[in-house]
This record gives sequence, C-alpha cells and structure tokens, in this order.
Amino acid sequence: MIGELIIVSLCTMYVKSTAIDYNNKRQAIIDAEQKYATGGHAFLTAKESQANEILLNFKNHYITEASVNPESYAPGMHFFRAKPLIDKSDVFKIIKEIPKGSVLHLHNVAAVSSEWIIKNLTYQPEAKLCEINGKFYFTTRTSKFCPQESVRSIQQLRKENGTAESFDLWLESLINLKLRKPNLMHASINNVWDEFEQMFSAVKDLVSYKPFFEAFHTQLLKEFYEDNVFYIELRMSLSRLYDATDKVYDEFEVAKIVRNIVHTFKETNPDFIGAKIIYSKHRGMDSKAAQDQLHTFARLNSEEFPNFVIGFDLVGQEDINQPLTIFMDGLRTFQKTTAYFFHAGETNGYGTEADLNLVDAILLNTRRIGHGYSLYKHPALWRAVKSKGIALEVCPLSNQVLRLVDDLRNHPAVFYVSESVPIVISCDDPGFWDSKGISYDFYYAFMAIASNSAGIGFLKQIVWDSVRYSSLTPQERQQFAQILQLRWDRFVDNLVSGKFISDDCVSV
Ligand SMILES: [Zn+2]
Repeated sequence: MIGELIIVSLCTMYVKSTAIDYNNKRQAIIDAEQKYATGGHAFLTAKESQANEILLNFKNHYITEASVNPESYAPGMHFFRAKPLIDKSDVFKIIKEIPKGSVLHLHNVAAVSSEWIIKNLTYQPEAKLCEINGKFYFTTRTSKFCPQESVRSIQQLRKENGTAESFDLWLESLINLKLRKPNLMHASINNVWDEFEQMFSAVKDLVSYKPFFEAFHTQLLKEFYEDNVFYIELRMSLSRLYDATDKVYDEFEVAKIVRNIVHTFKETNPDFIGAKIIYSKHRGMDSKAAQDQLHTFARLNSEEFPNFVIGFDLVGQEDINQPLTIFMDGLRTFQKTTAYFFHAGETNGYGTEADLNLVDAILLNTRRIGHGYSLYKHPALWRAVKSKGIALEVCPLSNQVLRLVDDLRNHPAVFYVSESVPIVISCDDPGFWDSKGISYDFYYAFMAIASNSAGIGFLKQIVWDSVRYSSLTPQERQQFAQILQLRWDRFVDNLVSGKFISDDCVSV
C-alpha cells in the first residue's frame, strides 16, 4: 500500500511539479520509503525517541566525517581490517549493550571464539595434534585416521616450539580464517571455503571428546549470553561423542547431554531462555543417507525431544554440493512431519542449482531460509517469502568473509530491508573469523545495511523479530517477551542517561 502511494506521488510530481511545493513532495517520498522499510513502523515511546536522537547523532556524525575520509569508514571495509576501528567506536559500544533477543542461525562447532579453544582446551593434558599430509587436526586420541606416529601431545609441542605465545597464535591460525591467511580477504569463493571447511575438520574430534564437548558448549552459551543473547537455535549434527573409557555416545545421548548443559546454564542464569537444536547434516551425502538422517530426525523429534530437536537442515557450500532436488524423495516423504530450516541461495549465482535451491526450500515449506542471499533475483519468490512470513537468516559477516560481497553496503539485505522482507540478523560461524557473539553483525546491519536514517526503530524491529520468527512455544514466547522488555527498557534508560559512552570512544 505504501509502495503504491510512493509510485502515485512520483507520478503526480511530474504532472504538478510546477504547482506544488517541490521540497514538500520530495520529503513526502523520502518519509514514505523510510516508513516502508524494516523498522519504519516501529512504535517509539518518548524515551525511545530520545534514545533514537542520541544514536542517530553518533551515526550521522560519523557518516558525515566519512564523506571527507571514506578510506577509514569501517562499515564499508572488510571486517578483518575494520575490527580495531569498530572496537573503539561509540556506536559499537551501544550495539554491544542491546538485548538482542535470539540468534537463529549458528553452527555449534564454529560458534566459540578460537582464542578460548586454544587457551583452554589445548592446555588440557589430553589435547593432542595430529598431522596428516600437511594438514593439522586437534584430537585427544589415536585412531585409524590419526595413527600413533602422527599424533603429538600439544603440551609437549608447546615446550619445544619457541614461546607459548607464538606457538598458540600458530595453533589458533588452524581454526581462525583471519589469522590463517590475511589474503583470504581477496581469495576466490572456493579457496576460502576449502580453508573454512578444513577448520571444521581440524576442531571436530577435539570437541567430540565428552568433557571438552561439555566445556565448549557451556562456553558457547556464555559468550552469547554475555553478548546479550537470551535464546539460540543451534544447527548441529549431534555426531557421536567419545570419552576417556572409549565409550561412544549416539545422537540421542548427545542431544540429552546438550539439553543438560542448557539446563545447567539456565539454573545459574535464570533470564536465559534456552537453546534448541536444528539437526543439520552435510549436503555432500547421497540420497539414501539423507533418507536415513531424516528418519533419525523423525525419531529424535517425535520420540524423545519434540520441543528440543526441532528442525532439519542441510549444510555445506551450496555452489559445489548437491542441490535439494537430489534429496527430494526423502524431503517430500518427511515434509508433513518435519520443520525445515534450509540454507538456500547462499550464492552469487543466478539460475544455478544453488540459486534454485530457493524454489525448493519454499515449495517444501521451509520455516526460515538460511541466508537467502540470491533471493532478490526472484520476484515471485521474495514476494512469496514476504507474504508467507518466512524470515531470511541474514549473516552479514559470513557473506563477506566467505567472499559473496566485499562492501556490505552492497549486500542484498539492503533490498530486503527497503522492501520489509522479514529478516533476522545472525552470525553463522563467528568463532572462525574472530567476531565473538553477534554484536559485529548487528553493527554492520545497522551501519552498512540499513539506511542512514534508520535508528532505534530498525534495531527494535530486528530484536523483536528474532523472537517472532523463532520456534518458541507460545508460553516460552510470553516468558521471553517479559524478560526482553525489561532488558530493552533498561538499555533505553542507560542510553538516554549516557551510561554507554566513554570519553575515549570515537564516532565510527
Ligand atoms: Zn550457516
């Protein structure tokens, strides 16, 4: 409706421009577009309006400065270069304090900061490093894959290799794209994905050791809770765990272990709402294996964890792996009983199989779409997504680091925001690119993706949409809404009273 009004205004402007106040007409169009975009209709209380003014002052101050000095404009830079600037900025300091609601797109193995893994897990006596064909894998055991002669104690290696500091930095480079090769900022998509997927392989066995798995997932919850996130939908494979006695834990036992970790975390942090699992398997498998995984999901979901293991997804680089059509038999068989949360359209292609995954995801009634990066190329599909209320899980930094886009001001989410296509902001794999939590993705969403004029209304909308498009039950939503409202009000009060701003901050 507002879109039509804008078009009518534009048409009549040409006809009557000599008779009307041109500036008023111009402003009316700008206002109408602003209201049409994400957050444009968000109701602001008097306090929120005050907070909005403060926030926009900081934002606009820097945007104005950047027009003189564009090469130091962090929102237009690659995150690896921009991070030190962002860390110093007042806008980021405010964004860190926002109660962010939920994170709905996160892969467990890549969710925890690499520094924590190195400084904690690799300092345990069980931690070992295995070298196979020039590639390194963290583990605690020897196996068929890592025979005795390929495995060394990390504590011993640390003693033998220079200073602990430089050795630890090298170790961390095995699971952090930023440290591994800074020129990955300019690598091809396939090259960066090779390095990225190697990091999952490098860390997987280490965090499959039950005591480490428990410490790792507790840390995951802690890092997000400290970043003001209260609920997570976690994509994980529930792959088998092992312990010191070589006991192996299957999917059901692993789900139970995760549920206990979440439960324990909630006991000490009562306003943390919880976490649920989207059972996710690599799309490199064949059709028969996919059917088996769908069957396992059906059992997990219906027999033991109906409100905990809530959905199914396929992961891995879409451009080089099999499209959803390959798995269609199984996906259609389980369609009525399975909530799908497909990665789809995470590609620069147009009309490629990866791009057309969007068609199948929507036809299979996906609840949300992971990325949906190429959706804007499909007018029928983005309109369907909008009318059906299928939220796109937009992960700005992931798309930049994995080379879909350099300057996030050119990210397709700019279009989704301008058209009010439902989105939630997420972080995908923050541990692998040094962006602990979700605040950096919020920063880019606010400074690079939303309009210059978007203020607290935009932030309010994406925070509350992260609850709206979650898989929480009505009762859980109610509880969450109460907690979030209290936190949001406190955030607005603090912003208005100037609590977040210190003298050493700069307007970035
Ligand atoms: Zn993902």
